Amino acid sequence: MTETVATTESPEETFEVAVALARRNPEASLFYLHGDLGAGKTLFTKGIASFHGIDPGEVTSPTFALVQRHSGGKRLLYHIDLYRIDDERELAELGIEEMEEEGAVLVVEWAEKLGRRLREDAIDVSLEVASENRRRIQIRCP
Ligand code: ADP
Ligand code: MG
Repeated sequence: MTETVATTESPEETFEVAVALARRNPEASLFYLHGDLGAGKTLFTKGIASFHGIDPGEVTSPTFALVQRHSGGKRLLYHIDLYRIDDERELAELGIEEMEEEGAVLVVEWAEKLGRRLREDAIDVSLEVASENRRRIQIRCP
């Protein structure tokens, strides 16, 4: 496992950290994102999506939908936000295994809510708000 830490000073820099991570791991299919509201998880998802040829403008914070499917890129990408997930039954209904079977890229916000479903082979990203425009980003690659 390798661990890297980056500090970004702007939203654009965080986006670029995400693009670079996806570029270094083009075959990776599972990204876990952690961090408080406003930490930059959705922005980070935009960067991963952008590397895979998806318009980052299409990637938004899902207010109602827990899962957004982006099929316009080189790889299919599912953006999953578990913020509103409360129990195992709701988690099971999302059908994450089926998405994996499609060979899609999965990006999961609030991944810690996966509980016993957390996988060791995911790329794990924790974003921490250091100040208004500064984020500390810790990346663990298996
Ligand atoms: P989350 O999905 O974690 O709730 P978002 O990605 O939706 O967070 O929002 C992050 C917010 O923080 C955006 O408004 C963004 O402009 C702002 N921001 C300010 N500085 C940074 C930075 N260095 N990295 C990421 N986002 C930043
Ligand atoms: Mg978000």
